[in-house]
Amino acid sequence: MKAAVTVGPNRVGIVERPACAAGEGQLLVTVEQVGVCGTDAHIWAGEYPATRLPLVQGHEVAGRVGDDRVVVEPAFSCGDCHACRIGRRNACAHSAVLGVHLDGALSELIAVPAGRVHFAPRLSTTAAAMVEPAAIALQAVERSQAGAGTRALVLGCGPIGLLATRALADRGVRVAAVDREPARADRAQRFGATFTTVTSSRLEPDQRAAIVEWADHEGPSVVIEATGAPSALAAALDLVVSAGRVVAVGISAAEARLPMNTVPYKELDLVGSRNSRALFPTAIGFAERHHAIIEELVTHRFPLARTQEAFALAHHGDPAVGKILIEVAGSE
Ligand SMILES: [Zn+2]
Ligand SMILES: [Zn+2]
Repeated sequence: MKAAVTVGPNRVGIVERPACAAGEGQLLVTVEQVGVCGTDAHIWAGEYPATRLPLVQGHEVAGRVGDDRVVVEPAFSCGDCHACRIGRRNACAHSAVLGVHLDGALSELIAVPAGRVHFAPRLSTTAAAMVEPAAIALQAVERSQAGAGTRALVLGCGPIGLLATRALADRGVRVAAVDREPARADRAQRFGATFTTVTSSRLEPDQRAAIVEWADHEGPSVVIEATGAPSALAAALDLVVSAGRVVAVGISAAEARLPMNTVPYKELDLVGSRNSRALFPTAIGFAERHHAIIEELVTHRFPLARTQEAFALAHHGDPAVGKILIEVAGSE
């Protein structure tokens, strides 16, 4: 079987490996499509400290077991640490994710513990490959505790921000979305945002005022930070209403400068969101309901043999690039 191996920073090799077989308690998954996300781009570039190369990447997985469409939940937890003991295995201190810490799905076949395989018979392969990012977005929305009739602001209209926008709208939340790129902010309307703003790296005073006015002249009760940019976290704390909640789901190693008084003065809840907690079945239902807009997120497809190009494109950060999929089954 063929596999794409990230052998070192910025270098992928296509290798022939012995076909794997399912061990005890495992299912053999024929991989069809694998999504590429920001984490993949960082791993490929050697910028992700938790990863050791060489590694087979790929954690957003659509495939088949026999004739049945499946998605793979890629995160494993230790069961012993504090987070695991209190039932929050998604935040396990020793979490291991396929394609990040362990060999992942850029391989024609993978053997996966049966409990990590979810059947999704009504999803297209493309929508199935989007279930993992949908679960990440749903986790951020769970962490937000946003309720019907409230107002939420989503910073960043990449796939996670857009999927979170849709999930918030499904709950009856009114959503405003912000991005640097007009096309990406426009797309948020397709995902249920009722108000969008385009900013440079900093919100202008009139844009800030417009968001506050939109949010009942007080500010949104929830802000989801889905960019990983330090300035966006600062904006989230600034914009959120007093006694509101900020969810940090965007990831980067950059350091944020924040005024120390904002969190206590406003008595904010500032929470993180990591992986997803038992949300794959919900994410499959979400992807079924919204498959049309979810499939529209895909802007580029590459065969397995061109994985190198797919990662380079993801790393470049071109705003015209939405979701990149690598087609594994049937590729050269
Ligand atoms: Zn991902
Ligand atoms: Zn643990």
